[in-house]
Amino acid sequence: MEFELWYLIAVPLLFASGWWLRGLDARQRKGERNNIDDQYFKGLSLLLSDEPDKAVDVFIEVVRLDEDTIELHHALGNLFRRRGQFERAIRLHSFLVNRAELPERERAKAMSELSLDYLKAGMYDRAEAAYEKLAEFKGRENEANEALMHIYVTEREWVKAIETARKLSGAGRKLNHEISHYYCELAAIARLAKDSARAHEYTRSALAQNAENPRALALSADLALEAGDRVAALAAWDKIERTRPEYLPLIAAKKADVLAETDHEKALSYLREAFATTGSVDVLKAFVQRTAVWVDEASAMNVASDALKSRPSLSTLSVISSLKAKANPCDEQAKILADIAARQSKITARYQCRHCGFLAHTFSWQCPGCEQWDTFPPLRVDEVRQARR
Ligand SMILES: [Zn+2]
Repeated sequence: MEFELWYLIAVPLLFASGWWLRGLDARQRKGERNNIDDQYFKGLSLLLSDEPDKAVDVFIEVVRLDEDTIELHHALGNLFRRRGQFERAIRLHSFLVNRAELPERERAKAMSELSLDYLKAGMYDRAEAAYEKLAEFKGRENEANEALMHIYVTEREWVKAIETARKLSGAGRKLNHEISHYYCELAAIARLAKDSARAHEYTRSALAQNAENPRALALSADLALEAGDRVAALAAWDKIERTRPEYLPLIAAKKADVLAETDHEKALSYLREAFATTGSVDVLKAFVQRTAVWVDEASAMNVASDALKSRPSLSTLSVISSLKAKANPCDEQAKILADIAARQSKITARYQCRHCGFLAHTFSWQCPGCEQWDTFPPLRVDEVRQARR
């Protein structure tokens, strides 16, 4: 009986206390919700009043109270970054990264955004450190390594770029083409430092990655020539002509000089053929200069005249007018004409990236616009147009 009495009193009491506690919890949550809403409006008001720094402080407080607002913080951080307000984007994303109680997925996302903030702000050292931390998050390694490779290429840290590219290759990305160029960069640096052993080693590594890389083959020919190995140099140039004939303008003059060591006529025929095939003004200049030295000035003039007839352009006109000015040093008009033709042809003669259309006055292996490799043909825009006619 005593037990039944206790039971009859206790159960309603427990129900009542549960109801009261639920009410208290709801009232508390309602209070917090109201507080968050107030903070939100305060933050928005500060943002609209053009006081973004104070708004950031308020929004940081909001996320402290309510984790459901993380997406809003990312959106706000991205907005700051797109507007170039990197310091504010970094503050927001740093706050999220440092919240140890956040789920790992959210912290990884925040770390990714923070890394991008540093990268876009041009703070490469911090971006590098941030991406290295991002690589430690599960499933984020490739994203981090792609960005790190971009940073190392921008900073011309070729050894690190190769290491990172190899990690990405291990994850399925095909990067032999890029790695081959990174080795070529190292080879070029070694050559400048007169370290031919290293230059050879890097060139071999470049060719191991891409046996038909015209840059690595051209480097290999240059190194062979420096070592007195003409046979190896000719073999490398022949390979470029077979596999990537469009790069002939880069090697024609050097190859002609090697051929001329035994046979001038053979060298000139080679240059005649190379100009007929490519229409390259660089090849024409080499042809004209060498004809003047190996034969005579009159023959060189004939070569230039024929070129102007077959490939009329400002660049070929510049070649012939420069020859005429040189042949008649007292002719003031010839000199002025040669200067005008040279200036005008320099303005119009530009290399164009096949990938993004970037125009450049000098040839390079990597496009400064889109950062792709081998996208500049070694022919200027007017030479390409001539070739299509
Ligand atoms: Zn480009």
